[in-house]
Amino acid sequence: MKSERKRATYSYEEVMQNVRTYITKPEDIDLIERAYQWAKKAHENQYRKSGEPYIIHPISVAYILTTLTVGPATIAAGFLHDVVEDTPITLEEIAKEFGPQVAKLVSGVTKLDKLQYRASDATSANYQKLIISMVEDVRVIIIKLADRLHNMRTIGNLREEKQKRIAQETMDILVPIAHRLGIYKIKSELEDISFKILHRDHYYEMAALVNKRQEERLHALDAMMKRISTILDEQEIEFEIQGRIKNMYSIYKKVVEKGKDFNEIFDLLAIRILTDTVRDCYAILGFIHNEYRPIPNRIKDYIAMPKPNMYQSLHTTVLGDQGTIFEVQIRTHEMDRIAEYGIAAHWAYKENNVMTSEQEQRQMEQEVKIFKEIKAIIEDADDTTNETEFIEAVKADVLSANVYVFTPRGDVYSLTSSATPLDFAYRIHSEVGNKATGFKVNNRIVPISYELKTGDVVEVLTSSSAKPSESWLRIVKTGHAKSKIRQYFKHIRRDENIMHGKDFIERELEIRGLEWQDFINSSDLNATLERYGQKSLEEAYIAIGSGSLSVRVFINKLLGQPKDTRDLHSDDNNTIIKNEPQAPVKTPKNVITIGNDVDNVLINLANCCAPIPNDPIVGYISKGKGIIVHRTDCPSVKQMGERFINVGWAENIEKTKHKVYLRVISFDRPGLLSEIINSLYAVKTDIIDITSTVNHDSTVTTRLTVTAVDTMQLDKIKLSIQKISGVYTIERTTK
Ligand code: MN
Repeated sequence: MKSERKRATYSYEEVMQNVRTYITKPEDIDLIERAYQWAKKAHENQYRKSGEPYIIHPISVAYILTTLTVGPATIAAGFLHDVVEDTPITLEEIAKEFGPQVAKLVSGVTKLDKLQYRASDATSANYQKLIISMVEDVRVIIIKLADRLHNMRTIGNLREEKQKRIAQETMDILVPIAHRLGIYKIKSELEDISFKILHRDHYYEMAALVNKRQEERLHALDAMMKRISTILDEQEIEFEIQGRIKNMYSIYKKVVEKGKDFNEIFDLLAIRILTDTVRDCYAILGFIHNEYRPIPNRIKDYIAMPKPNMYQSLHTTVLGDQGTIFEVQIRTHEMDRIAEYGIAAHWAYKENNVMTSEQEQRQMEQEVKIFKEIKAIIEDADDTTNETEFIEAVKADVLSANVYVFTPRGDVYSLTSSATPLDFAYRIHSEVGNKATGFKVNNRIVPISYELKTGDVVEVLTSSSAKPSESWLRIVKTGHAKSKIRQYFKHIRRDENIMHGKDFIERELEIRGLEWQDFINSSDLNATLERYGQKSLEEAYIAIGSGSLSVRVFINKLLGQPKDTRDLHSDDNNTIIKNEPQAPVKTPKNVITIGNDVDNVLINLANCCAPIPNDPIVGYISKGKGIIVHRTDCPSVKQMGERFINVGWAENIEKTKHKVYLRVISFDRPGLLSEIINSLYAVKTDIIDITSTVNHDSTVTTRLTVTAVDTMQLDKIKLSIQKISGVYTIERTTK
């Protein structure tokens, strides 16, 4: 039985005792001893809240570090981790005395500490630093975890309010990091201490329940271990067996998160069997199942499919004697070390190991996915990403990722709960996301909004012509996917604006009877660009295309006023808007008629609401884009200023096809989509685009882009869809 009570503080002699078990080189021992002497001198006359000399804190941190068998530089940095922050000693002095490696580690921890205990509103920035420093050198985080562990073990000396704040921070950030690095030993202790502080009542309630039949349970555990030992002895398998009662917080989580009654939590007891080889692990599993009945769906093979934090083990839950239920974990000694110490086990200090710390870091990055995932988020971040967004992305995408899914090739990816196949597609590669057309989970087609579950095998169907939709932003759950979709649209808009900018310039030149060559070869071009603050010609296209720079103003400056302005009255926003808001436009009834001949006015039908003949419309005088005609009920009209002008449709307007956007809400039934398509053919409309999404309430939203020559045809289209059984509503929408 493992039930050692953890002491809070340790002595320097105990640290050295541990050190000597795996570090023997005299110069390494010397480095550690000197670091201790320095720290002791530096912290002289400093005391902790408990009244003890301050030095016991760095000693205890160094002790925890030795249990993780870290290297000499890390232990030295453990002794020195508070020196720069709390004493007059500088980093330069440490670098001079102990070399750049130790100084780098101390500097990393100091930076974190400075942030940790200051202004609480800056916590996001703190976490961001914490996480980025981990990606730079994971040893900084290991020291930080040891530091936090000792502070948590001695937290009783602080005010309750401060205890709560630190416990919450520990739960939010340090526990998930320890989990993702696989350092179970530190993680579960931090969790239990924080749980006790944050939920004192629940903790004691739980402790009382656990203790209630403790005697009985321990007895059952003992008997079970004996019997398994006998069986394995008979088989002549080398093994080591351990029994334990699960930690409090994991029991509490089951009660709270799974809504279970305490009495329903049966696997309070856990047995762990360690052996030499993977073959023996499976053999032992067989012998156990031969003797005890396994509970269905509780057998997990993390040996064949390790968790992303490298954890490997076989798990099963069996019915023991007298109805007691046991969880049994079977793994090799090596796997056990990784289970307890995670990343620290992998990179356990070995003397004569010639790897540089950069090589070590790179090796760890390859082994632990968390580094890759965080690096991806750091790469996603651009100038517009603030600290809160960054930390939210890390929390959602990495720290709280608890759903493990697979590619058809068997690569495992961890995603946040409620993530969709689209999140998965973006996680694989942004191009896979951008080109996604459909998804298969466990070989069946699923809707885009499907919630992934652990164990799902996800296949992304792609097409080279596929493009993201802005509605995806509302579907995806990970920050990574969101930022990739946003980036896509940023680029698209840039390209579109360049195109529009060139168009506007061309039209403006045409009005003046000029050629593109006159524009591009103008000797004043660079001066004019500079005059309007445009860094390049491309930037100018974007400014003009997006409407932030008036094409008229720009071209006037570059090529002078046009000779004949009669044709331009309605596009000259200066005269219409500023001087005479109600300025009469020289067309009948003060209305610009949209007819077949729009030569002398730049008129564009708005893309967003796509008006069609007979729709009530209004014209908006844009900067540089002429008059843009919107439907009066277009939502974007409400957000625009007051530069409106009356417009109307000509009576004899030519019948051309216009796009209309429709949204159909219907019941989810087979064949519905094909009926919609058939009814659209019947009313002779062209179908430009159809997308269907299944909603949570099992209704389906179908978005249609079709053509109509006028509102009469549109009414026919709507009516024919409305007649289809299962259709609830049909609405005209904007893009
Ligand atoms: Mn400290």
